[in-house]
Order: sequence, then C-alpha cells, then structure tokens
Amino acid sequence: MRRILFASRNEGKIREAQAILGSSNVKLVSIRDFPDMPEVVEDGKNFFENALKKAKTLSEFIGLPTIADDSGLEVDCLDGRPGVYSARYAGPDASDGDNIERLLEEMKGVQPEDRTAAFKCLLVLYETDGSFQYFEGVFEGSIAEAPSGTGGFGYDPVFIPAGANKTVAELDPETKNSISHRGRAFEKLKEYLK
Ligand code: IMP
Repeated sequence: MRRILFASRNEGKIREAQAILGSSNVKLVSIRDFPDMPEVVEDGKNFFENALKKAKTLSEFIGLPTIADDSGLEVDCLDGRPGVYSARYAGPDASDGDNIERLLEEMKGVQPEDRTAAFKCLLVLYETDGSFQYFEGVFEGSIAEAPSGTGGFGYDPVFIPAGANKTVAELDPETKNSISHRGRAFEKLKEYLK
C-alpha cells in the first residue's frame, strides 16, 4: 500500500477521492491527522500554481507524497472569471449564495447561447524527490438565469451540464461525481497510479 497525503480538509472531497482511488493500491492520509500543519495561502494566478504550492509545501513539511487540488468556475463571457477567485468572488467572507448573486448580476441580459462556462480542477501529485505530475478535469456547461436545486455546493445551483436541462444541484451525488471536473481529474490520477 502506498501512503499519500491528501491536502484537503473538505470532508466531501476526501470521501470522493477515497471512493475513486478505493480500488487502487493507495491509502490516502488526511491532513487532519497532523496538527500544526502550515496554512497555505492560495495566491497563485491559476489553479495549477495554487495546487502545486499546496502539494509542495505540505509534502516537504510532512515528508510524504502529497496530492493537492484547486478548482473553480470559468465563465466565457466574463473572460474566465471568477476563476481562482471562485470561493471569494463576492468578498473574503462571501457565502455560496453571495457568490452566485454576484455572478448572476454580472451576467444580467446575457443570452442563453452566450452563457457557456466550465468547472476546472487541477490535481497535483508531488513526490518526496521534488518531481510532480498534474492532471486536469474539465466539466463543460452553462450558467442558468436563476438558481435551482439544493444538492452540491458552490455554484452547483446555477451550473447546467452541457446537454442537460437541470442544474448540478438537482443531480444525485454519484451522477455528479461521474461527470464532474474533480471526478475526471481523479480518474486520470488513478490511471497514472496503476
Ligand atoms: P476549491 O478547489 O475548494 O478551492 O474550490 C474553489 C471554489 O470553486 C469553491 O468554493 C466553489 O465556489 C467553486 N467550485 C469548485 N468545485 C465546484 C463544484 O463542484 N461545484 C460548485 N462549485 C465548485
């Protein structure tokens, strides 16, 4: 069994990652098992820089190979915003609802065919010898004019997957994981670890 640290405190993400990597020869170790973990400021200009910084910092601190991810929403008519600012689009303490409100406000009047967007996830596996691999998952769709559904988190209530007619917040979690940016990036990582 290979022990790999997963640099996330998000319960949902840890469960999702373990479920996908479950059948491989990997035991994911949680950062919650280590007190005094350094806080990593996500100040990179893209998802890759943030994920690499997190994975490298924590791997060097703990001495284990480390997986870190960074993800967010890129909206075409907003030149890729909110992007790396997805979690704090409406301000440092913004709730998911506040962020959605700001997004919909900025997209007021944008026609359905111009509301295309994608969730992106960048996953970095940082090895103890300083080498690393990265894996990207993309989830294409468009932004609804109003939120609907209660599942998921973040921008799920306004994100309609390409070819679908309901939002991600109206899908069951298994369906979301099978098509999401994070699910796709973790599947690529799993293939690599085989
Ligand atoms: P992080 O990867 O946890 O830093 O995610 C940054 C932000 O992107 C989250 O706070 C959400 O606003 C947004 N986001 C990332 N993945 C998803 C998703 O699967 N659904 C909805 N929002 C997401």
